[in-house]
Amino acid sequence: MVLFERRSELGGQFNYARKIPGKEEFNETLRYFRVMLEKHAVDVRLNTEATVDALANFEEIVIATGVVPRELALPGADHPSVLSYADAIEQPEQVGKRVAVIGAGGIGFDVSELLSHGGRPAMEVAAWCDEWGVDLAVGERGGLKAPQPPRSPRSIVMLQRKSSKPGKNLGKTTGWVHRASLKQRGVETLTGCEYVRIDDAGLHIRREGQEQVVEVDTIVVCAGQESVRDLISPLAQAGSRVHVIGGADEAAELDAKRAIDQGTRLAASL
Ligand SMILES: Cc1cc2nc3c(=O)[nH]c(=O)nc-3n(C[C@H](O)[C@H](O)[C@H](O)COP(=O)(O)OP(=O)(O)OC[C@H]3O[C@@H](n4cnc5c(N)ncnc54)[C@H](O)[C@@H]3O)c2cc1C
Repeated sequence: MVLFERRSELGGQFNYARKIPGKEEFNETLRYFRVMLEKHAVDVRLNTEATVDALANFEEIVIATGVVPRELALPGADHPSVLSYADAIEQPEQVGKRVAVIGAGGIGFDVSELLSHGGRPAMEVAAWCDEWGVDLAVGERGGLKAPQPPRSPRSIVMLQRKSSKPGKNLGKTTGWVHRASLKQRGVETLTGCEYVRIDDAGLHIRREGQEQVVEVDTIVVCAGQESVRDLISPLAQAGSRVHVIGGADEAAELDAKRAIDQGTRLAASL
């Protein structure tokens, strides 16, 4: 069995997720899979593009090529101030002090969380207690103290097209934490936005019929993802047995559980 990965490390989008403060446990998921691949002697080929030719002689081919960030279709979308979420997560030092995040879904929240963090590790117990007002010495009643949310090093506004509550589709038991955390750091949200253009002045939007400029240095696009499916038709036409799982199958919604579930069931059936 051969696993092709074009990048230098395994994990795909998990490598973005694991850099988000509070999602450090994704490192452990990746560690688990690296150990399992080694234990089961899978031939892992990093820095290796899977091409139609390279796949020609395999009996079963699983396409788990995932997703790429969707680009903006807007005048000025190629302005130097525009970054994809992947670029913003990999190189936060490229992101300016005033930031607009386009898209308030799971990735928009995660990117805002990362960019609004001041550098103190989110999983450090003392930092967490200061942020949420927990007094471990129980000096105060109920072990509570005044929360001291860290100051964001950037001013951030997160925008969405829909008029509904931002983060409506976040996890039922965790969504409130993400919303509270961003609010504590002063991240603003703007709903019902129509994106007009981007230029040196910033991001031009229309809201409630009025045009306005969101004056920012950086615009991070978190406006969804597209499946990477370019290998599927040529392989199917060549008569290969092709199975498609994960983001390559369905790009909508963030869901590693669905991808892993599909992969596990498929593997058990082959
Ligand atoms: C910031 C962020 C936070 C997230 N948080 C969560 C979360 O909390 N919970 C959750 O369930 N999900 C989360 N996700 C989503 C989760 O990461 C994805 O659902 C999951 O990674 C999808 O896995 P995949 O294998 O289908 O695709 P991907 O992770 O996109 O992996 C595809 C891999 O295929 C490689 N590849 C593509 N084409 C080729 C080729 N021709 N040859 C060789 N290699 C190729 C790519 O380099 C990539 O490594 C998050 C995603 C992001 C970006």
